[in-house]
Amino acid sequence: MKEKIMKFMYGRYGNDELNQFLVKLVFINLILSLFVRGSSFLSDLFYYFSIILLVFMYYRMFSKNYSKRYSEKIAYLEYSNKIKVYLDKNNKEKSQRKEFRFYKCPSCKQKVRVPRGKGKISIHCPKCGVDFIKKS
Ligand SMILES: [Zn+2]
Repeated sequence: MKEKIMKFMYGRYGNDELNQFLVKLVFINLILSLFVRGSSFLSDLFYYFSIILLVFMYYRMFSKNYSKRYSEKIAYLEYSNKIKVYLDKNNKEKSQRKEFRFYKCPSCKQKVRVPRGKGKISIHCPKCGVDFIKKS
């Protein structure tokens, strides 16, 4: 039996980060489908979506097209990294919001951080050099 499985899996793509992510999504969708049982439409939607994800995951696992699966993985990793960077930035800003205020430069849209509680101040944009007045 084990030999048969090994023979079957030979030359196939197998698991990667994208598939691990898909498994998590499948679980989340199944749980969501249980939570919205009151609405059969939503519950069906989450349920069938999890089935589609599962099929896609197995399709990738048993695929013999390495280069295609690999490029999917890279696309996923790039995308998830972008989200991570965005969230990190947001969190950083949130934790500083008590002590600082954030303004966008009116000419170049660069974000500028200024200390709070200093009254009306003139802000100098470090990127384009424009000065603008805001309440801090
Ligand atoms: Zn500027």
